[in-house]
This record gives sequence, C-alpha cells and structure tokens, in this order.
Amino acid sequence: MNQVPTVTLNNGTHMPRLGFGVWQVPDAEAERAVATALEAGYRSIDTAAVYGNESGTGKGIAASGVAREEVFVTTKLWNGPSRKWGRDAVLHALDDSLAKLGLDHVDLYLIHWPRPMRDDFVSIWKTFEEIAASGRAKAVGVSNFRPADLDRLAAESPLVPAVNQIELHPLFPQTELRALHAERGIATEAWSPLGQGKGLLTLPEVAAIADRHGRSAAQVVLRWHLQLGNIAIPKSVTPARIRENLDVFGFELDAGDMAALDALGAGGAGRRIGPDPAVFDV
Ligand code: NAD
Repeated sequence: MNQVPTVTLNNGTHMPRLGFGVWQVPDAEAERAVATALEAGYRSIDTAAVYGNESGTGKGIAASGVAREEVFVTTKLWNGPSRKWGRDAVLHALDDSLAKLGLDHVDLYLIHWPRPMRDDFVSIWKTFEEIAASGRAKAVGVSNFRPADLDRLAAESPLVPAVNQIELHPLFPQTELRALHAERGIATEAWSPLGQGKGLLTLPEVAAIADRHGRSAAQVVLRWHLQLGNIAIPKSVTPARIRENLDVFGFELDAGDMAALDALGAGGAGRRIGPDPAVFDV
C-alpha cells in the first residue's frame, strides 16, 4: 500500500517525499481528511500549531488504524509576537502540540518563520537542539528561512536543520535556496507545491504536458517537484484529489517537460503567493 519513496534526512531518519498538508482545514474536518489521506496511502502529515487543527489531525491518525511508527508527523512552533520565546515557552508549545495530537513525539518539529526582526531564532534553535536530543521530535528543522538565516544558524549551532520548508512551485522555483540546501545537507520541502491551486494549474504550458501524459495538471506539477528532489505536501479536502495527488509514481516527465516547467519560473522573483519571510511578523 505504501509506495511513497522516502528521503534520508541528515540525522538518518526517513521522510516520505510526498505528504499531506492540512493548512486551512478546519479542526472538525481534519480528522476525516487525514484519515482519508492515510487510507489512500499517504504516510506523512504536515500540520502546525497555528493551523488550529492538531487535535483533528491526531484523531485522523488514530482513526486510520495505521500504526504510529508508519506515519511521519510534522508540526511547527508558532513563534509569533504574542510572547517571548524563551526555553520554557518553546518547550510548553511542544507539550501543547503533542497533547493536541495525542502523541508522545513528532517526527519533525519546525520553527515556522524566522521573523528576523525579532532576532530570537538562534535562541529558539538552542531549545530545538534540546528537543532533538530528548527524542520528542525525531528531527528538527526550520521553515521560511532565507540564506542569511541559515548562515546565522550555521555560525551559532552545530545542529544543521534537517529540513527547510519553503514556498516553492514552478512559478517560484527557489533555485538558489535549493542549491544551498543541497550543499549543506538540508532537505528542501515545498509548501504550496501546487501554487495553492490558483493560476499555475490552469496555465496552457502545464495543460499541454498534462494532456501528453494523460495526467492532471496537479500530477504534472507534483512530478516536477519529485524529479527536482523536493519533498512536496499538497493539500486537498476532496477525496478524489487526495488520491490523485498521490498517484504520481507511475509516470515520468522528460527533459523537455522539465525545461518547460522550469521556464515558467524564470525571473520569478515577484511570483510569491505567500508572505516574504524578510518582513513577515504576524
Ligand atoms: P497547495 O499548493 O497544496 O494547494 C492546495 C489547493 O490546490 C487546494 O486547496 C485546492 O484548491 C487545489 N488542489 C489540490 N489538489 C488539486 C488537484 N488535484 N487538482 C486541482 N486542484 C487541486 O497549497 P497549500 O495548502 O498552501 O500548501 C500545502 C501545505 O503546505 C499546507 O497545507 C501546509 O501544510 C503547508 N504550508 C506551509 C506553510 C509554511 O509557512 N510553512 C505555508 C503554507 C502552506
């Protein structure tokens, strides 16, 4: 049933290369969506404290009947401006997330945003070192970190993030950051991998490739991610799409297809959908 290949993270743990994201899924719907995804064969779920659906996510994992050790669970510290993120606050936030998920550990715990203007991600990362050592997160990483943020962590901590989860899709391909990750042994995880289902999936260039392969636009975009070496976490609450987004291991894009998709993002500096991590501090 589980056919999703994994990537070996820099701490030796294995993470599925395709997972299921639950941003904007209401807590009450998350149980059904997560259980549907696990029944379809996903083995990786991406939630976050700020999504407000860790409880539903945990219930979905329990309801699926899939063994805990077969599911890779990611959540994220909402290091928002509501308080100072000293050691105790960070540890309590993880306690809260674990309690809501109904789990004794997560597989990956991420700092959600660098918030460079607050100048506190290095001290948060020091607590993440402790969390990794405790086993309450099998791996720790970051999200939305820019090259300068990764440089600061590298200068101040021996622990290299296992993952940097960033906005990444053909319209915003993050070429420079992906190369930096590869150099440093950081896995690249793509959020909004389908460009949030907006313009990207209806572009004629994507449709032409999809038609040629007898696949959907979403499947073509997910293949682009996989063939670049990205981890992707598409979201859907529609059972047919949940299954469709996982059914991407039976075909391959050729070099021409990849080049056509790469060309969509050429000069893509302005094609972000989400916030810019340099200024995001909500
Ligand atoms: P996405 O790119 O996965 O797009 C999801 C949307 O695309 C769906 O709501 C639906 O409208 C459409 N869609 C999905 N499957 C489709 C299909 N087969 N055919 C046609 N349309 C389809 O966007 P996302 O939800 O923003 O990102 C995925 C996950 O990434 C989130 O759920 C979350 O887990 C994570 N994320 C993380 C951050 C972060 O800051 N770390 C930010 C945003 C999202």
